[in-house]
Amino acid sequence: MNIHLPEDIAEKLIKALKKAGSKEIGGILMGEYLSPGVYRVKDLTIQSQVGTTAFFLRMPLIVLRPLQSFFQNTNNQFTRFNYLGEWHSHPSYSTEPSSTDYQTMWEIVEDSTVGANFAVLIIVKLDEKQQLEGSVTVFIPNYRSFRGELIQ
Ligand SMILES: [Zn+2]
Repeated sequence: MNIHLPEDIAEKLIKALKKAGSKEIGGILMGEYLSPGVYRVKDLTIQSQVGTTAFFLRMPLIVLRPLQSFFQNTNNQFTRFNYLGEWHSHPSYSTEPSSTDYQTMWEIVEDSTVGANFAVLIIVKLDEKQQLEGSVTVFIPNYRSFRGELIQ
């Protein structure tokens, strides 16, 4: 799966990552379907992390305001614009998903109320040159996952 990260979204992320420093931040990804296996990040939310572990307080997706307004702004064209997944930063370690990350993502794709048939996890950090570095992992039901490509 290829995930395109447009320049304006990448810049927004870099700014937030610089500001957050060594603190983990994250949020949800809103995506646009381009062609089979190809999506573009259309928008994302940025939250600072609660606590010290890589765990973001989750709410049922339906009550998430940003997602609702995203659906509204895109005229409820769910097949083209929909929830894509999650992102967060690993400021001081590799962009590989941790075991907690796997668990969180399984909870999302295995949750029938979410109704996602896949969810993407993007993990980002800034490299020495303050450039954005990221990994993409795609999670599908029945505890399967595979790597994707982040295209900047
Ligand atoms: Zn993580």
